[in-house]
Amino acid sequence: MSLKQRDKKHIWHPLTQHKLHPDAIAITKAKDCVLYDEDGNEYIDGIASWYTCMYGHCNDYITNKVATQMKQLDQVVFSGFTHEPAIKLSEELIKMLPKNQEKVFFSDNGSTSVEIGIKMALQYHSNKNDKRNVLIAFEDGFHGDTFGAMSVSGLSVYNGPFEEFFITVERIPTPNGENNIEVLNTLKNIIKNNKVAGFVYEPLVQGAAAMKMYDPKGLTEILSYCKENNIITIADEVMTGFGKTGRYFASDYIEPQPDIICLSKALTGGLLPMAITSCSQKIYNAFYSNDIGKGLFHAHTYSANPIACTAALASIELLQSDEIQNCIKVIIKSHKNFGERIEGHPKVKSIRQKGIIFALDLNIKMERYGNLRDKLLNFFMDNGVFLRPLGNTIYIQAPYTITQKQLDKIYKTIEQALEIV
Ligand SMILES: *Cc1c(COP(=O)(O)O)cnc(C)c1O
Repeated sequence: MSLKQRDKKHIWHPLTQHKLHPDAIAITKAKDCVLYDEDGNEYIDGIASWYTCMYGHCNDYITNKVATQMKQLDQVVFSGFTHEPAIKLSEELIKMLPKNQEKVFFSDNGSTSVEIGIKMALQYHSNKNDKRNVLIAFEDGFHGDTFGAMSVSGLSVYNGPFEEFFITVERIPTPNGENNIEVLNTLKNIIKNNKVAGFVYEPLVQGAAAMKMYDPKGLTEILSYCKENNIITIADEVMTGFGKTGRYFASDYIEPQPDIICLSKALTGGLLPMAITSCSQKIYNAFYSNDIGKGLFHAHTYSANPIACTAALASIELLQSDEIQNCIKVIIKSHKNFGERIEGHPKVKSIRQKGIIFALDLNIKMERYGNLRDKLLNFFMDNGVFLRPLGNTIYIQAPYTITQKQLDKIYKTIEQALEIV
């Protein structure tokens, strides 16, 4: 029996309606930017397996470091114990993160890093005897699938069964340059009429909203107003972090700096699940007390797993190398050229790019997971390119190590796809 057939017996896949999509493709191997399936097909990984494997799959530099660490220290409780991989990672990360970040809190996935950010914001005020019960978020943001993260995510048709259990969240539209004053007024009204604890946002690019990009100046105004009202700002950089936008973090483009930053996806270069919620000294100080109850009593069994920390350290080293920084520049330029080439195409409604994130909207109405979207996805796969369109948006977020030849193949396949839709 093929893996594909055996899979169906016991496995329940994420984001999948099994009655409509019975078959998963079985991947047996991945190297650099290519996935290999059990039938001998190859696919260029145009979205770096959900933006994680930014240094290529099974990167030798990372896997070698991890192999050594595995024999030294595999796992230890992180309450009461510490270890060098976590310490070194905290030192390196704090050097890279926006200047106000001072402390890192470990967990193991993006949703949880947001969950922790939300708990930090709520407890920050509670510890100061100023209980606040409302969060602000953008209308179409995505922050993960646990309850706090779902609550702050824009209302999704898939969240229907859970909505009545959510945290109270007030929503504002993303600023687009023209609506900035209205957005700010909406924000001011919400803050006037509620006890607002924090504002959660994806800086500059909203991934699951189909790589929607919005106005940095508008975000600056929002953050400044939040700061004035001591509303804790939580930047969800789970997708944008680690070089995607052309700088280490999307928050590097913006003043003021967030109080809290959520990181995961590319943190370990796709090797192991890990997440970090970093924060400023101001946040940490609100928990530092003789009162045990004012501590942050949140833990995950695998917090700061030494092997994951080692993968993260190796990934950060690569990100900071001239070689990868140069790759990023080359991809940015290459995407620009491609954008100029297809901009006027009758099937293309609009294009946008931030760093190595490139997206185009088709001039066609499409459901997020409908038939036409499936047709498009299948066309890409049949042509050896793994891209995962979101509604009528096709986007690229390839590993930094992708070759020009592979990029050209992605572009060409997209252009061919425009002819079949
Ligand atoms: C993927 C993502 C998450 C959720 O991360 P998981 O590891 O899938 O739980 C949260 N926020 C953003 C912006 C993301 O892209």
